[in-house]
Amino acid sequence: MTILVTGGAGYIGSHTVLYLKEKGESVVVLDNLITGHRQSVLNDVPFYMGSLHDQELLHYIFQNHNIEAVIHFAGNSLVGESVKDPLSYYENNLGGTLSLLKVMNKNQVKKLVFSSTAAVYGDPKCVPIQEEDPTIPTNPYGETKLAIERMLHWGEQAYDIKSISLRYFNAAGADPEGHIGEQHHPETHLIPIVLQAASGERDKVNVFGDDYPTPDGTCIRDYIHVMDLADAHYCALKKIRNEKKSGTYNLGNEKGYSVKEVIETCQEVTGREIRVEASPKRAGDPAVLVASSQKARKELKWKPKYSNLKDIITHAWNYHSKKEVHHKNMHYVK
Ligand code: UDP
Repeated sequence: MTILVTGGAGYIGSHTVLYLKEKGESVVVLDNLITGHRQSVLNDVPFYMGSLHDQELLHYIFQNHNIEAVIHFAGNSLVGESVKDPLSYYENNLGGTLSLLKVMNKNQVKKLVFSSTAAVYGDPKCVPIQEEDPTIPTNPYGETKLAIERMLHWGEQAYDIKSISLRYFNAAGADPEGHIGEQHHPETHLIPIVLQAASGERDKVNVFGDDYPTPDGTCIRDYIHVMDLADAHYCALKKIRNEKKSGTYNLGNEKGYSVKEVIETCQEVTGREIRVEASPKRAGDPAVLVASSQKARKELKWKPKYSNLKDIITHAWNYHSKKEVHHKNMHYVK
């Protein structure tokens, strides 16, 4: 039996594919390669380039690969972009998942692990955030992920599709071996941006807001290693397999770091000077987002391995500095 990973060429998807292969699982990937990278997927993993909206292709994959379960990452995930173009988020995230569920149901595939987000909570009233806390998204990205969670709830009632939704906090880091890592074009996430400033790919880091009600005035986030996220997907799959139960879980380290602390740790890890500039707040950024992940630890038996920010940044830097050498070599050859 095989696991279909949609969005398996993206940042979290590709790390999960690597992890599943290490665990001896059979995997097939579907990705439209709009933000994903073909080279992030191992060569021996069957790969389909295509869209979730393509029901014929989905049907072909289900028919030809003996699909047991789906881990569903494919979708758009930029808050700012979702505010500018909400309809494409509804179309790609909600519409794409709707298409996937239809084909799953037609093919009697009843297990799904879904990539959700802390953005479903909006601006939290208190931290650490628990799964039962109010979900009032402040942008279309969070809104579409929440709508999918609700669709999955009703899908279970009607079609008995068991699903686990994983609400990630701030994914960061890279495969500890340095084979794959985070590459977004353009990059918007804090840690890769700071590492680009360390390697000279950009001249400075803009710190979005320094008068938040936090000890140093900058936003606090809960950074979680991408390999720990990958492990959580595997734990969720095992739970659905063994207990046939659905659920919703936060994934975070339960510890927050400020933007300034992240920059200081990057400076320490890289040994390089990083230029910083105070900039206006980014719209819709809550001051503090920290998870309670007690439920995932207890029910999924999930235990993050790399909870230390320095380890997370060290792995990200290993990957980033390798890329840097590659980039310089290319330049030299030219
Ligand atoms: N941030 C920043 N400068 C940047 C990118 C991000 O100050 O160039 C801040 C952002 O305001 C947030 C934190 O870093 O408080 C993490 O942002 P990121 O985009 O990585 O993740 P998000 O929390 O938005 O999912």
